[in-house]
Amino acid sequence: MEEIVLAKYGEIALKGENRSSFEDILVKNIRRRLKKIGEFAISRRQSTVYIEPLNENADIDAAVEALKKVFGIGAIQKCAVFPKDFDEVVRNLKEYLDGALSCAKNFKVEAKRSDKSFPMKSPDIQQRLGDAVLDAFPHLKVDVHNPEVTVRLEIRDKGAYLSAERIIGAGGMPVGSSGKALLMLSGGIDSPAAGYMMAKRGLTVDCIHYVSPPYTSDRARMKVEKLCEELTEYCGDIRFFCVPFTEIQEKLRDFCPEEHFTVLMRRMMVKIANKICEREGYGGIITGESLAQVASQTLPALYCTNAAAEFPVFRPVIGMDKIEITEIARKIGTFETSILPYEDCCTVFSPKHPRTRPKIEEILTAEKAYDFDKMINEAVEKTEVKRFKYGERTVFL
Ligand code: ATP
Ligand code: MG
Repeated sequence: MEEIVLAKYGEIALKGENRSSFEDILVKNIRRRLKKIGEFAISRRQSTVYIEPLNENADIDAAVEALKKVFGIGAIQKCAVFPKDFDEVVRNLKEYLDGALSCAKNFKVEAKRSDKSFPMKSPDIQQRLGDAVLDAFPHLKVDVHNPEVTVRLEIRDKGAYLSAERIIGAGGMPVGSSGKALLMLSGGIDSPAAGYMMAKRGLTVDCIHYVSPPYTSDRARMKVEKLCEELTEYCGDIRFFCVPFTEIQEKLRDFCPEEHFTVLMRRMMVKIANKICEREGYGGIITGESLAQVASQTLPALYCTNAAAEFPVFRPVIGMDKIEITEIARKIGTFETSILPYEDCCTVFSPKHPRTRPKIEEILTAEKAYDFDKMINEAVEKTEVKRFKYGERTVFL
């Protein structure tokens, strides 16, 4: 019996004239993800991507696992494929559905006929399919409201597709369909979650990280690189910009009021991100800021940081509390790495009493105490770039 996977569109299905460009990106992303797993024929028809294994080595369950992390997919169904002959489906139904139905108590059936030339209409298919399932599994009861298993039969262009399992997909829009943005990635819990959320809206997410050796260690940097690797599961390949930040922090410490240190430092980070965005064509900056979490994330502090940005700044976790953000981090598999106890440059020289209501005039005046623009340009020049490939694991901690 031939088995294939159908990936049904999520939000793309609502698109109008430009829909096929989104579909092309989705198919491309699926191809990239499945390349490592085996050979599959991947094509799209009728708001669905068809994923057919081409040989014994193409592991269909591994493909389903990978597809669960591909944005743009609304639902995933593993199906048996038959010729469009209802009796043929009925003859094979017991064998294919045995795993799903032999231990179930109740079920319902759903039938869909997108090939309108098929002689039976949907309600008719549904009725006869229900009877056939009851014949094959007499212990079952029908429960149309709260079934344990839904048996679906779809009559499509090229065949009849029978399935007993529908998995909810990752949703959102295909990565790359909304342009690209730069995620300010620290070693904390929040920023990886923020990157995941924006990739879900279709952004290609690359990462920028600021390091302050010797105050921050190689291990701290490796931890962030590991987070990058983990994010590739959802984001695909990621470029990683590592910015040397020590000298800027030292000059901020030496020349500026201590109470403004954190906000000034964040503005420097944003100004460096501006330059990288401009040079590399990113259309926005993403951060893991959450309102009121720390002194640098009060409304006045965010105002001052935001004033340094020349690109839209996306803060998808701004309205979430730590528990909600942690839930996301656990789901996407970054939490355990985020809680490894390595230092971040944000904690280097951090003031005892940061101002929670900084005034932009004071901040701008403080910034004039040194030629920070020159330092920013130098830091950008010395920035290292690395690439993390989807699914690869090279960083060990
Ligand atoms: P936590 O999860 O511990 O709150 P955090 O990453 O949110 O960690 P914050 O000090 O709250 O740490 O920083 C707010 C945001 O600033 C981060 O979410 C991140 O986007 C950015 N950021 C902080 N430190 C760095 C860094 N070293 N490199 C890049 N971005 C950083
Ligand atoms: Mg935070």
